[in-house]
Amino acid sequence: MALSFEEQTRIDLAATFRIIAHLGMHEAVANHFSAAISADGKQFLLNPKWVHFSRLRASDLLLLDADDTEAAHRPDVDATAWSIHGQVHQRLPDARVVLHLHPVYTTAVACLAQPKILPVDQNTARYFNRIAVDELYGGMADTSAEGARLANLLQDKRRLLMGNHGIIVVAPTVGEAFDDIWTLERACQILVTAWSTGQPLKVLADEVAEKTARDWEKISDFSQRHFEEMKHLMIQADPSLVD
Ligand SMILES: [Zn+2]
Repeated sequence: MALSFEEQTRIDLAATFRIIAHLGMHEAVANHFSAAISADGKQFLLNPKWVHFSRLRASDLLLLDADDTEAAHRPDVDATAWSIHGQVHQRLPDARVVLHLHPVYTTAVACLAQPKILPVDQNTARYFNRIAVDELYGGMADTSAEGARLANLLQDKRRLLMGNHGIIVVAPTVGEAFDDIWTLERACQILVTAWSTGQPLKVLADEVAEKTARDWEKISDFSQRHFEEMKHLMIQADPSLVD
């Protein structure tokens, strides 16, 4: 029998938690991913508070409603997760999948006085002029006002580089969101490694960077395939992921 949209999304999101933990891109038992289930985006799946990504199963994900003011007080809902994801799903119905991480290289770039991802290769060029930057870090994002401010910064972009903090990526599908946050971390790893040589960088011309970014946007099926392959590996390693 075919899986319902919610059932499939639960499996895809659970697989994403496993993949991110497998790749060491998670932060302790913090960080959070969500995926909208309803057409208006307000009903969404979220990981429960402080459970390690590497043991989350499809059925462990919480189904929440962005309009439910009581959800913030549930013991299994992390306050910062509720503030960020609740507000993004409330305000941006097209942001179907929302991933928030503090991966090392992306966060290192976010800690620079000028957190700009220079186009120096194919990976970095994917993000050319396509990242919003928040330069107003003010402590843990645990209020709806802070979540609303972050959602507002995303508006016309799919990635928000959060200064002194980390990253939020939004996408139409779990697969595209995963591939995007993974490629961004890789791009930042390449950039930081290039900087670490102390040699001058050869930055791509704007036209080349723009063309490369557009080329990436034409191959969302590549992102999906990357995700499907990784999901397959995770289910093979632990079939209980889909439970
Ligand atoms: Zn964070």
